[in-house]
Amino acid sequence: MGGYFGVASKEDCVFDLFFGVDYHAHLGTRRAGLAVYDAENGFDKAIHNIENAPFRTKFDKDVGAMKGQLGIGCISDYEAQPILIRSHHGTFAVTTVGRINNADEIVEEIIKSNTHFFEMQSGEINPTELVAAIINQKENFIDGIRYAQELIDGSLSMLILTPKGIYAARDKYGRTPIAIGQKEGSCCASFESFAYLNLGYTAVRELGPGEIAVVTADGVKTLVAPGKDMKICTFLWIYYGYPSSSYEGVSVEQVRYNCGKLLARRDNVRPDSIAGIPDSGTAHAIGYSNEVGIPFSRPFIKYTPTWPRSFMPTQQSKRDLIARMKLIPVHDLIEGKSLLLIDDSIVRGTQMRETTDFLYASGAKEVHVRTGCPPLLYGCKYLNFSRSKSEMELITRRVIQELEGGEVTDEILQEYVDPDGEKYQKMIDKICEKLHFTSLRYHRLDDMLEAVGIDKDKLCTYCWNGKE
Ligand code: SF4
Repeated sequence: MGGYFGVASKEDCVFDLFFGVDYHAHLGTRRAGLAVYDAENGFDKAIHNIENAPFRTKFDKDVGAMKGQLGIGCISDYEAQPILIRSHHGTFAVTTVGRINNADEIVEEIIKSNTHFFEMQSGEINPTELVAAIINQKENFIDGIRYAQELIDGSLSMLILTPKGIYAARDKYGRTPIAIGQKEGSCCASFESFAYLNLGYTAVRELGPGEIAVVTADGVKTLVAPGKDMKICTFLWIYYGYPSSSYEGVSVEQVRYNCGKLLARRDNVRPDSIAGIPDSGTAHAIGYSNEVGIPFSRPFIKYTPTWPRSFMPTQQSKRDLIARMKLIPVHDLIEGKSLLLIDDSIVRGTQMRETTDFLYASGAKEVHVRTGCPPLLYGCKYLNFSRSKSEMELITRRVIQELEGGEVTDEILQEYVDPDGEKYQKMIDKICEKLHFTSLRYHRLDDMLEAVGIDKDKLCTYCWNGKE
């Protein structure tokens, strides 16, 4: 996914920039970067690989050396950024969050005007560099940003650092957020709304879908008004967002409690305790436990002191191993017990099956599994996730293919969306059997949308029902 933070200040902004970006560390595991502009010394930039060490460790030295009154930074789950560009707009730095599905076509089109791109090791063009190239096709930043918002199939939110201020542009359909905070002499734009609170900022507002604004030390000014249509990523509340964040004024932690509560209302098992897979299922489990009055417990504790979130290799088998090694079981809470375990979702299922097998091996009597969202049937086509790269990795897809015994068309897939349908139940039973659970229930889409509570037409639900 990735996240960004930008700050404009009358004083030096590097301290706020550093910690503001650091508060986005949960959103990406690959690269991170900072870019600053100083009225005397101009631009400066640093980018590091954060796959094997946390953001703070990697940028410690840079932060001591950097200075400036304007800055942007990011945690990226994919490409190296922010990138620094010199064009007819002057020098600027840009950082993005999103996904460009039609990158090849756009690259071909731009290359026709005798320009060039650097290829990354993968052979692809750095998506943030591509966004800069699109912006450079137009006469000014506003036209360039609008052009990029129109041209790109996927999603795009961005911050652009210029000597005069920071342009903040939210995705056309608001798939990802931009929140504005302010304190005396400084104003910031942030993916996560909580990131600036401990730095002394207070929340001003969130940008609307497609809105383009400029952030200076004096505040935020809208340059292009927001559009009417919104499709914000619902997964932000279910999994990706930090618990202390809120989007569209709705608290992430509260939504997770609501999810647990609504899950519990449709359930009929009476386990000895309710537990969440740490940390992704913890809040959902608290909501469930509070609703049914069965104690919440922690049969697994996450060992965090020496396993920073960012130590997450890109290879899937290694990721599974690391994820497992981080969880330490508490045998007294497992042996002879009937447990109900909640996670935000089931992606490939491997980790959940291993966890369940481990619980049985440790003497658990029953392992009931519940999820904070409906079955994931479609891969996300709006954001880049390291979690599931291909749709065929999804346990649902593998099971549906097995049940159908042939090609799975979109029409067939749609038959598995309805939680009251026969095919849906068959899929759930099969997943339950494959992953060795005592019982399995997923959250219903209507309940999940109720848990978020805003107008459901404003929420993206593509990965659950394939609806754009
Ligand atoms: S498809 Fe799912 S993960 Fe992707 S933006 Fe929509 S809700 Fe978020």
